[in-house]
Amino acid sequence: MALLQRTFSIIKPDATKRNLTGSIIKKFEDGGLRIVASKRVRLSREKAEGFYAVHSERPFFNELVEFMISEPVVLQVLEGENAVSINREIMGATNPDDAAEGTIRKEFALDIGENSVHGSDSLENANIEIKYFFKEDEIVG
Ligand code: ADP
Ligand code: MG
Repeated sequence: MALLQRTFSIIKPDATKRNLTGSIIKKFEDGGLRIVASKRVRLSREKAEGFYAVHSERPFFNELVEFMISEPVVLQVLEGENAVSINREIMGATNPDDAAEGTIRKEFALDIGENSVHGSDSLENANIEIKYFFKEDEIVG
């Protein structure tokens, strides 16, 4: 059954730096997702570390945080039917070498770390991540 959902997305520094924001948003919209909140920010170290706390024991954690604070990012809430899984399909696999043709990561990602986008991996995490960055009145569906 199709369910209207919201998911959380980040257009990462490698993409904002290369002026790919619009190209990535077009992938979301063409895939059936609607941008219902959007802001371009530079993440603080504290905010980036908190966001990726689940990965704090992974060997790439410091590299990931340094990357995420290196340039501006675009934080977005995407809405649509089955938005969480649809967004993961539009994004493609974490490693661009494994990503399917036509996905954001296949077309734009530089490598497994600088992979152009973040997308929530479950509805539960989507709700947590949306609340971490957006107030209710910043989301307009
Ligand atoms: P995804 O973003 O596809 O959900 P993960 O949650 O596993 O992937 O990892 C979070 C982010 O950490 C990735 O998007 C990527 O930026 C970075 N990352 C994951 N694995 C590696 C790795 N082996 N080396 C460097 N960075 C990595
Ligand atoms: Mg993840």
